[in-house]
Amino acid sequence: MIAPIQDGHPADLRPLREIACGAFEKGGALAGAPMGDFEYEARPQQVEMAGAVADALESNRHLVVEAGTGVGKSLAYLVPLILHAKRANKRVMVSTHTISLQEQLVGKDLPLLKERLGVPFRAVLVKGRMNYLCLRRLARARSHQRELFGEGLAEDLERIRAWADATEDGSVQEMRRPPSSEAWGAVCAEHGNCLGTKCPLRKRCFLQRARAQMHDADLLVANHHLLFSDLAMRLEGAGFLPDVAAVVMDEAHTVEDTASDHLGIRLSPHAFEHWLRRLFTPDTGKGLLGYLRAGPAAQTATRLWDAVSDLFHEVPRAAGFSARDSQKTVPGPLAVQTEVPGLIHELSGRLGTLIEELEDQDEESRAELRHLRGTGIALDKMLEAFLGQELPDHVYWIEREGKRRQPVLHSAPIEVASVLGGALFGQIPSVILTSATLAVGGRMEYFRDRLGAGEACEMLCLGSPFDHARQMRLHVATNAPDPKDKEAFAEAVAKGVLRWALKTKGRAFALFTSDELLKRTAATLRAPLEKEGLTLLAQGGDMGRRSMLETFRRNAGFVLFGLDSFWMGVDVRGDALSNVILTRLPFAVPDHPVVAARLKRIKEKGGDPFKEYSLPEAVLKFRQGFGRLIRSQTDEGIVVVLDSRILTKWYGRVFLRSLPECPVEPFEL
Ligand code: SF4
Repeated sequence: MIAPIQDGHPADLRPLREIACGAFEKGGALAGAPMGDFEYEARPQQVEMAGAVADALESNRHLVVEAGTGVGKSLAYLVPLILHAKRANKRVMVSTHTISLQEQLVGKDLPLLKERLGVPFRAVLVKGRMNYLCLRRLARARSHQRELFGEGLAEDLERIRAWADATEDGSVQEMRRPPSSEAWGAVCAEHGNCLGTKCPLRKRCFLQRARAQMHDADLLVANHHLLFSDLAMRLEGAGFLPDVAAVVMDEAHTVEDTASDHLGIRLSPHAFEHWLRRLFTPDTGKGLLGYLRAGPAAQTATRLWDAVSDLFHEVPRAAGFSARDSQKTVPGPLAVQTEVPGLIHELSGRLGTLIEELEDQDEESRAELRHLRGTGIALDKMLEAFLGQELPDHVYWIEREGKRRQPVLHSAPIEVASVLGGALFGQIPSVILTSATLAVGGRMEYFRDRLGAGEACEMLCLGSPFDHARQMRLHVATNAPDPKDKEAFAEAVAKGVLRWALKTKGRAFALFTSDELLKRTAATLRAPLEKEGLTLLAQGGDMGRRSMLETFRRNAGFVLFGLDSFWMGVDVRGDALSNVILTRLPFAVPDHPVVAARLKRIKEKGGDPFKEYSLPEAVLKFRQGFGRLIRSQTDEGIVVVLDSRILTKWYGRVFLRSLPECPVEPFEL
């Protein structure tokens, strides 16, 4: 048999599993590769994962893999993924939640594989369209600055121009000091605002170059936000990313929430104002309509400014959303008297007339007008969908956001499974979801079904390569009062945190589920800790999360009190972190409209919301918190649980069963 030729070499006809796993074995492509201070060493879980990923890719199936920290899962999926792309001559994608993982893939793993794998491949980091500079819009913004924006953007526009001559890829992330969002909004590439082949700057265009690179690439590296905003745009017929034959979604525990954020409505006063400012600002006369001297359209825009301001007073009033509320579900359609839809319709007609009147004389203004008209129509569509609750199976709510606590109108699918079942799992032949924490009680059906991956989706739960039995101990309080007794529980938490923080001389995280309890415990313990030479870092103060972590990493004798964002995605290796105190089992308070709607939906279907949602979600979060301690083979320490329900309630067993084998030591507070 004559083997087909790939990249000038005869193709390897062995099963993908065999080739992929071979890379990890003795004498394989990765043997002897430098990994930090050590040489690469094969781990059985890593090889098992690479084999399972290869099988899923080759047979066009979906796969969920839980692979704990230390398995080396990025190489375990990258090797088969790249080999699959080259063999099948198809484009594939990796998507991450965090920038730090994306940086690890692009900065470490992919260069290593380029050097070692013996298969040439092209990998490209992809960014959304609006991250790229549009040279044509920049030139226009600078030459018509006075009419379009006034002097406010002058400094930023000059900086962007100077940078445009030097930048390689033309994406805003390359700017050392980012410009204001208004300045960038005036010069970035936009959907529907590109002259395409008619553009005189097309040859130098950053977006076109990025697109060409994306289309030529074997592997795209993206993030979940981009993937789901593209998916939402695809549902409207305007996607940006090219088709792929397979996608690996790492940090997949965030997929449900990220998808939910992108598949619904988000309408803020700022979105309307940003759009209107580009068209016409009544106070200054600036904007495209002023520049075009389009009097009637400018008058309609002026009326819209007032109508939008009224709208964001009227909607909260109609929904009974008071100034003190932070968020509130809107249970049914709202009858709100508003001129906004009518005026957008009127403005859209006037913009359409202007586009026709300009004919070919001013192609650039026509492109801007087309884009702004499209934005107006999209805003109107979202507003009508929100007021009339037109999107099926969505929950609708109002939430205050930002420093100005402006009301923002939201909707999200109650269950993302039905949308993702069609738009993600139904479209991409092989979707592989992986994370260190996906299983509840050793099973992953919960995760698979919440995302709609389907029953045919394969599941693999790999153990951890760490020896938890040797590396750590779990201390559990036997007599803490029920958290429902707030006073008594708060006292017990303060007592427990102090005792265990002193025991390890700081080097401890205390993870909280409520801001109120964190603040109260911090106020109680700051002085006693200081008296013992320990310093408290509490989230919610002046210091940001990143600085808190850096300070904690660099200095011994610190105790860090953290909320949600410290339960996951935090990596402190070595002695710096020797003690993780979980103050309470992390059951979500069902006060967020999306959580409340999910619970209600389960009940309506005759299910048990506690068993089917609250408990598995809490177990996953608990495992995330627990997982902060042991991050490498040499880490050692303790995890302390101050919530005695883990021993006294039936569901406590589900939490304990979800943890790796380790010595458990009960203690009295
Ligand atoms: S081709 Fe499109 S995005 Fe590129 S510079 Fe021209 S108008 Fe801008």
